[in-house]
Amino acid sequence: MEIAKRLDRITEPQTIRMAKLSRELKAQGINIVDLSLGEPDFRTPEHISAAAIRAMEEGQTKYPPVAGLPDLRAAISEKLRRDNGLHYAADEIIVSTGAKQSLANAILSLVNPGDEVLIPTPYWVTYSALVQLAEGVCRFLPCSIDTDFKLMPEQLDEAITDKTRLFIFSSPCNPSGSVYTRAELQALAEVFAQYPQVTIISDEIYEYINYMGGHESIAQFPSMKDRVAVVNGFSKGFSMTGWRLGYMAGPKPLVQACEKLQGQFTSGANTITQRAAIAALLGDMTPTKLMVEAFRQRRDFVVRSLGSIPGVKANHPQGAFYVFPDISHFFGKKDPEGNLIANDEDLSMYLLHSGHVSTVCGSAFGSPDCIRVSFATSMDLLEEAMRRIAEALGKLR
Ligand code: PLP
Repeated sequence: MEIAKRLDRITEPQTIRMAKLSRELKAQGINIVDLSLGEPDFRTPEHISAAAIRAMEEGQTKYPPVAGLPDLRAAISEKLRRDNGLHYAADEIIVSTGAKQSLANAILSLVNPGDEVLIPTPYWVTYSALVQLAEGVCRFLPCSIDTDFKLMPEQLDEAITDKTRLFIFSSPCNPSGSVYTRAELQALAEVFAQYPQVTIISDEIYEYINYMGGHESIAQFPSMKDRVAVVNGFSKGFSMTGWRLGYMAGPKPLVQACEKLQGQFTSGANTITQRAAIAALLGDMTPTKLMVEAFRQRRDFVVRSLGSIPGVKANHPQGAFYVFPDISHFFGKKDPEGNLIANDEDLSMYLLHSGHVSTVCGSAFGSPDCIRVSFATSMDLLEEAMRRIAEALGKLR
């Protein structure tokens, strides 16, 4: 059987490859501490699961409207007003099977073959894959630990060309945990004001996992609202990764285009999950706040631990549940068996096979000087992992 050529344009995400590798080593009886994970290690709050059970008992199991249940779209509209000061009518919102599908819908609706898409690095792996699937051309804008992995307005200004159609970023960012402030977003918005042909996808899925107070969206600036697709979802803030629900809020023509695509791809998201999502948005946020507090303690511990290892330059994430240290100091060194650590992938593999800790190499996110360390696991395991990483790195000469 011959598989279509378009599949050649994309590869399996490194994050999923690493998780697979860890599982294989664990199956061989090796005790691996898995820090490659991209999901909260908390249960979905009970009141959310209870709403799903109620929906099933009430027989709410028929096809939903393609763009989402009216009640859920109204709840999202209310959430955007309440949390973000953003005013979107229900028909400017579309619910999808995960933020990943929201991104796929938006990218496939916006990018024509040859269109240029700007993506600051480090970026979430799926952005480039989806752009490539749409036959767009990714142009990566390198951001380093020196600017807390944030894009500077001058850099954006220099990068935009006549062919630039789209800009994609996440704040809080996966993998760096960086969070743009209102002033930083405003400075980017001022640059975008000069280039009306550019649409912005603002991925805000880590909104609630924020250690610096409030979340800021680039859609808040009046000049931006009609040009921004705000993508968000339930996976991270409500620990609902397996439920598969996300949404996009944006200009009506874009929402209608996404609805057209989704009508052929999935016919809409799972109805039971949609009922649960209403309970999530309008219900008690205490479980989310407790989870974020636990993440904050773990972040402080991991940043402190990594920062105390000679040669590791740890960043100080303000959101999400990842640290993205610069480990380029170790390139060119050798492990005790004499194997060369030439790059981030070698280092990540060395940590896996010798230290028995799984991480994800930074080049998967477009930043080959770094590795991604997830702290979405228990404090006990994090303590063990930090001990192992320090020991393994200490053996490199
Ligand atoms: N955007 C970012 C930045 C993510 O890290 C993820 C998941 O890891 C997603 C979107 C996709 O989320 P969902 O589970 O809603 O598809």
